[in-house]
Amino acid sequence: MKMKAAVMTGVGKPLEILSVNVAEPKVNEVLVKIGATGVCHSDLNALHDETTPIPTILGHEGAGVVASVGPNVTKVKVGDKVALNWVPYCGTCEFCVTGAVHLCESAFEPMFSGTLLDGTTRLSKDGKPIFHNSLLSTFAEFAVVPELSCVKLPDEMPLAQAALIGCGVATGYGAAVHAAKVTPGSTVAVFGIGGVGVNAIQGARIAGAAKIIACDVKSANLEIARNFGATHTINAAEEKADEVLKELTGGFGVHAAIDCTGHVVATESAWKGVRKGGTVVVVGAFDPTMSLTIPAEGFHRVGKVLKGSFYGDTQPFRDFPALAKLYLDGKFMLDELILDRIQLDDINKAFHSFQDCSCVNVGRSIIEFPAVSMNSEDRLQDDFETVS
Ligand SMILES: [Zn+2]
Ligand SMILES: [Zn+2]
Repeated sequence: MKMKAAVMTGVGKPLEILSVNVAEPKVNEVLVKIGATGVCHSDLNALHDETTPIPTILGHEGAGVVASVGPNVTKVKVGDKVALNWVPYCGTCEFCVTGAVHLCESAFEPMFSGTLLDGTTRLSKDGKPIFHNSLLSTFAEFAVVPELSCVKLPDEMPLAQAALIGCGVATGYGAAVHAAKVTPGSTVAVFGIGGVGVNAIQGARIAGAAKIIACDVKSANLEIARNFGATHTINAAEEKADEVLKELTGGFGVHAAIDCTGHVVATESAWKGVRKGGTVVVVGAFDPTMSLTIPAEGFHRVGKVLKGSFYGDTQPFRDFPALAKLYLDGKFMLDELILDRIQLDDINKAFHSFQDCSCVNVGRSIIEFPAVSMNSEDRLQDDFETVS
């Protein structure tokens, strides 16, 4: 079947809007008609990454409607509204069977080689393969994705908001609720107020934290943090965050700190700013050449926990529907994360806006696709081409 897609044809080059072929879903795969997709900073990183296989279709934050299913698919059916998860898991490894599906490694090899789980692609142009991104490739009218990437949401969930759930929203919320296990009445610091940090604040708010202290070096971001539920703010460019955290908590430090910055200095400050028995959760990816320095003196006495969290310890089939319900109940803010709504043809404008450093990196441009205007069954029958 032919579809319109934004194709990455070279490192750092503007995406090209092209007509490409998408093949039928194979075993345990689903064809999704994309309704909306977010443009994430990770897409910009992939566009400038020499290791991204080319040509590729980027996009890993998406939601849509199931258009067809391959053999053996049981979790979704045609017409279901789904949000997409970019870390499908195997379901059988030690991590999966003990509930830590976010630690499953089965998706990484295909993710880095630009294929689906079986090592092949469903995308092509003129007989030549086009690679997938994060096993999704949502910058296109349709996507063939693993069944375990398709999480059914309630019919009333709007697709633009649903598209946000699978990346920064789940990561930030999960960092607070699942990784830091924020409890009612506790005190929480969130370092780094971006697309993940504001959702860590929301997670802490929903978990019932009494004080939520946002730490950032940009005062504009701290103002935004208050809109999402921060009760206090610290400008880390002007004040020592760990000292202020202690002042705000009777000298003890916070129960939990969530570091979304990717900077080791912030993690070191968070470590000092949590109380005995407290937890520091690191969500951001560090510069791999850096080392983290934690004071050795008294380490055994303070009982603190330093914990990395990938994807916010998210279990998509547990968390995505919960987040949709929180949104539909008016408890989780997603509308405020949509900066603007654009068409696929204008996708390069969304990439340009990232390069404007005054842009506050909290919300998203959302690409919306018109609803299927033709009889999709006929189109699927007539237009599929076999891609080897
Ligand atoms: Zn993302
Ligand atoms: Zn697994």
